[in-house]
Amino acid sequence: MLFQKKIENYQILKNPFKAYRMNCRHCNNELSIEFTDLGSSPPSNSYLTKYEDKHTEDSYPLKVFVCDKCFLVQIDEHKNASEIFDENYAYFSSYSSSWLLHSKEYVDYMTDRFNFNSHSLVVELASNDGYLLQYFKEKNISVLGIEPTHSTAIVAKEKGIETIVDFFNEKLAIELSRNQKKANLILGNNVLAHVPDINDFVKGMKILLAKDGIITMEFPHLCQLIDQTQFDTIYHEHFSYLSFTTVKTIFSSVGLELFDVQEISTHGGVFKDICQT
Ligand SMILES: [Zn+2]
Repeated sequence: MLFQKKIENYQILKNPFKAYRMNCRHCNNELSIEFTDLGSSPPSNSYLTKYEDKHTEDSYPLKVFVCDKCFLVQIDEHKNASEIFDENYAYFSSYSSSWLLHSKEYVDYMTDRFNFNSHSLVVELASNDGYLLQYFKEKNISVLGIEPTHSTAIVAKEKGIETIVDFFNEKLAIELSRNQKKANLILGNNVLAHVPDINDFVKGMKILLAKDGIITMEFPHLCQLIDQTQFDTIYHEHFSYLSFTTVKTIFSSVGLELFDVQEISTHGGVFKDICQT
């Protein structure tokens, strides 16, 4: 037994990534099927200063697994999400004029289709610098942003958009639903893939959503990744690579029903799904 343990330790030292095991973040099944292995890489959007040495920068594995029970494609959380989305986070959504246009069109479409008005509450998860909520606010609809990165949330607050600087999860959803009326619309654009504990996140949405409320999620679809060999979309900020099969499974596990899907062309082929309690 001692001998066996020594061999395992030796393998870990020789190749830290080979001896590594993880369980599915949705169904807890042990993952054994490798989807792809891109070696290792430093974290993205974490830029070095001129005083930092690139040779000593930490690298983390980019090994992707697929669950053979729920088919969720995923990488492990090698670096804590709070370290990735920290105060130095440098992605500001408003820098992209095409993304702003897409956001404005989304707001027009959703208010027309679902008749949101001044009595409605729209909550955006990962609201960044208020790039989207500003258009709901223009229509006199109450908005609340939830955004973990201080750098972007400050800009949103300067636009007059109420923003909670925190990670969204079940605990926060319980607190919010005690203190405020529930959300008529919850939206998350390119956030679902960034969430390490996807079950907790989806449970939180269910708690915060009003009866007959609507959720929209935009995310890059797994089939696009495969068809167009979008290997550069695999990085440490993206913990999950989503398909409708898995999204439907995860949402229905908390009682949310998927009732519409649209294909849109932003971010190299993204799908929006619309769920309701
Ligand atoms: Zn699974």
